Amino acid sequence: MQGPNRSTQWKEAAVEIEYRLEQKRNITGAFPGPASLALAERRAATVAAGVASSVPVYAADADGGVIVDVDGNSFIDLGSGIAVTTVGASNPKVAAAVSQQTERFNHTCFMVTPYEGYVELAEKLAELTPGEHAKKSVFFNSGAEAVENAVKVARVATGRTAVVAFDHAYHGRTNLTMGLTAKAAPYKRGFGPLASEIYRMPMSYPFREENPNISGKEAAERAILSMEKQIGGDQIAAIIIEPIQGEGGFIVPATGFLPRIAEWAKEQGIVFIADEVQSGFCRTGDWFAVNHESVVPDIVTLAKGIAGGLPLSAVTGRAELLDAVHPGGLGGTYGGNPVAVAAGLAAVEYMAEADLNSRARAIEETFYTRLRPLQHEVPAIGDLRGRGAMLAIEFVKAGGKEPDAEVTRKIAADCLAAGVIILTCGTYGNVVRLLPPLVISDELLADAFDVLEEAIRRHA
Ligand SMILES: *Cc1c(COP(=O)(O)O)cnc(C)c1O
Repeated sequence: MQGPNRSTQWKEAAVEIEYRLEQKRNITGAFPGPASLALAERRAATVAAGVASSVPVYAADADGGVIVDVDGNSFIDLGSGIAVTTVGASNPKVAAAVSQQTERFNHTCFMVTPYEGYVELAEKLAELTPGEHAKKSVFFNSGAEAVENAVKVARVATGRTAVVAFDHAYHGRTNLTMGLTAKAAPYKRGFGPLASEIYRMPMSYPFREENPNISGKEAAERAILSMEKQIGGDQIAAIIIEPIQGEGGFIVPATGFLPRIAEWAKEQGIVFIADEVQSGFCRTGDWFAVNHESVVPDIVTLAKGIAGGLPLSAVTGRAELLDAVHPGGLGGTYGGNPVAVAAGLAAVEYMAEADLNSRARAIEETFYTRLRPLQHEVPAIGDLRGRGAMLAIEFVKAGGKEPDAEVTRKIAADCLAAGVIILTCGTYGNVVRLLPPLVISDELLADAFDVLEEAIRRHA
């Protein structure tokens, strides 16, 4: 393969990738440009103000590690549309699978006339998800819907009602899932009444522990004691946790925390649900983030990276749990849509073939190699954390741990102004999170890190 868009610069690349768009940051003038501004005006007149966008330009095209806007500017994408476009926003394999399926049928409704793709993806997920036990899956459209249904399954299977979630958790925006989500603004404020029987427990957040020496196991015992005292183990249907928290700040619990919680859940007959909606599908350098500590959840909820950008989610878990629900108790008109499952099959196949787990680990290595030295120079960098290509920088006021949301905002704004899209997160709004597509080239990644480093030096 020849051409200017070819890249052979991948570390440990398993396949050579050919890009359709030039992989280069290129801001042609002041932005938003005229075409984006015109769209913003139309949007203001007809699109609900409640849905906000963090970038002021409108997308025209996207491929590999770049997003091109309607005025011809090329941005480096370090957000992947919130951890979705792991295989790229226009992965050729996904595009081919989608177009083949859409030529045959876009919909029959699996609850009316079933089709093979749904079954095939369920088989694939049974293979890929942790544990050797018999597994079953059911598909939906969004992460929140998967979480809702995982809780429904756990309640039916256990005959219990209480659900435990953690500080800093994010599980979605529907009624039950916003109840599970920790942060009030903007997710919950004014949207009540919220669902009942949700209990919130202390998380393991190594950087912000009062006792910096507390182990993961001790942090787990702290949560377990609260569960015993406030609820009672035999009343709890499910414990749901993100193995690396997403919106809450890319918080990686201390080693030993997840295994101990999972072990206690098992002793108590509680369904342990790992919400891998953001952390799944090679994002952390393994198929699922729980694999880093060999934790085997009873149920995993999956979405975001699963289907190369098409809306698809899944609940995969122990066969006896999923089968506890009466026929007709689970489903939805579009759940497991044939085009989305075709995309899911293609995306998962690509991840394996291109060995995107290795790719994520190489990105992790680049991140720590570049940012560790900077952390020693810049006191505002409180913490660097994350695995694979799910990486974060937590900013604090120099000399302490007081969160600095202001400096975080400025750094993100500077990156954007230079043509690098980065996202922020965290309960205190003081975390820059990096979620590049795993097909980003090394050159583009290096360029993005240059921009980020410069912005950090300027403001922190
Ligand atoms: C994004 C996210 C959700 C919600 O997914 P949607 O598709 O936005 O409904 C749930 N859990 C986690 C961990 C997420 O990151």
